[in-house]
Amino acid sequence: MRVSEQTILLIEDEVQIRRLLHAALEDEGHRVLESGTLKAGLAQLHADAVQLLVLDLGLPDGDGIAFIRELRTQFSLPVLVLSARSAEGEKIRALDAGADDYLTKPFSTGELLARVRAQLRRRPAEGAEAETHFRFGDIEVDLAQRSVTRKGEAVRLTPIEYRLLCAMLASEGKVMTYRHLLRAVWGNAFVESNHYLRIYVSHLRQKLEDDPAQPKYFLTETGVGYRLQE
Ligand code: CA
Repeated sequence: MRVSEQTILLIEDEVQIRRLLHAALEDEGHRVLESGTLKAGLAQLHADAVQLLVLDLGLPDGDGIAFIRELRTQFSLPVLVLSARSAEGEKIRALDAGADDYLTKPFSTGELLARVRAQLRRRPAEGAEAETHFRFGDIEVDLAQRSVTRKGEAVRLTPIEYRLLCAMLASEGKVMTYRHLLRAVWGNAFVESNHYLRIYVSHLRQKLEDDPAQPKYFLTETGVGYRLQE
């Protein structure tokens, strides 16, 4: 599916990377704005109607994580962060601070464009009704009825499994950190209990995936968390 033209802001201090991303996004039909610093980027976010932010975490004039936290008090646009391979912990902190997805450098422009498309698709139309019905593959979830079906057959989920599924639906297409999911489903006291998640995600895969060993929907993001793919 091709997404219609959107305005995308790149905050990245490396001119070469910026040029490459700019060209790739423009080829996709988007309008692209650029900044080399957080300060200039923030000014652009206020000045222009930006629909998606691509943010490098290694910038000269400040902490990208604090920037995301600050941004989230004022803006709801999707944020895709770029992080260096040597800074694994950084991308997790960025997701917990409110980023929606990440790419680890070096990445291909194909990967970048796929992530951008996924984020732009997630944006609900202005004034859309709160969605209570979800469908991915053969699976349908009706939040109003609390019903889950697969290939038309009712699937029985335990209360924890159902809560986990709902937490994942709420962030569909987005990378969810272990901490985020544990807090949502079990509460603050359990944010270190990654093994709970491994167990319950495997239950969801058993009940909802065609091949639980090769999941199509409940994907693992190694070292980070999970992603629910539509
Ligand atoms: Ca940089």
